[in-house]
Amino acid sequence: MKKIEHIGIAVKDLEKSNQLFASFFGKEHYKIEEVISEGVKTSFFKSGPNKIELLQATNSESPIAKFIDKKGEGIHHIAFAVSDIKKEIKRLKKEGFTVLNETPKKGADNKLVAFLHPKTTNGVLIELCQEID
Ligand code: ZN
Repeated sequence: MKKIEHIGIAVKDLEKSNQLFASFFGKEHYKIEEVISEGVKTSFFKSGPNKIELLQATNSESPIAKFIDKKGEGIHHIAFAVSDIKKEIKRLKKEGFTVLNETPKKGADNKLVAFLHPKTTNGVLIELCQEID
């Protein structure tokens, strides 16, 4: 694990939340990206070295829609940057973690991503992400 790459927050209305976080940070989001395969629209804010990802569902089957149905808006995941995602997946499986997608998939922000099941990480959904060169 290199560092926390970003923190993901599930929101109902991306436009409203963009305004909210723009007033919080004192600056606008720097990118909006839709990940069709995940049924999400995301936006990113930078705060010094840290990033916040807002996620809004684009359909009712989206993991974000299900999360909000169950828990409401709020922190959805913590993402850690790794340099070799395949190696980390192998290592973490061996350590007993449940990896939700063993084949890394293309996520937002030019990353390969994989998620660990919250039941094996004290209720926290953890995302591993590796920058795509
Ligand atoms: Zn994320």
